[in-house]
Amino acid sequence: MGPDDPGDAELDDDAAQNGSVAMDRDGRMSQAGEERRRAAEAAIARIGDGTSGRCAICDGVVASEQLQAEPATRRCLSFERRGR
Ligand SMILES: [Zn+2]
Repeated sequence: MGPDDPGDAELDDDAAQNGSVAMDRDGRMSQAGEERRRAAEAAIARIGDGTSGRCAICDGVVASEQLQAEPATRRCLSFERRGR
């Protein structure tokens, strides 16, 4: 029994309460990827609605490729480069 075991058990409980039934001790790593993927899907869905894919600064179009690479982005490529 290692120091990580109790933590994993608690993580399983939290996951179950959140409705993520299939979550196991690997969930800690895959959870980050899952969140990221969900954000990307949401961003792409908003593009389909025509309500997003717009730059928050210049109101230009944000490329879907950019949103897939950086789901949280709200800026077009030129401002995204400048802002970092
Ligand atoms: Zn812009």
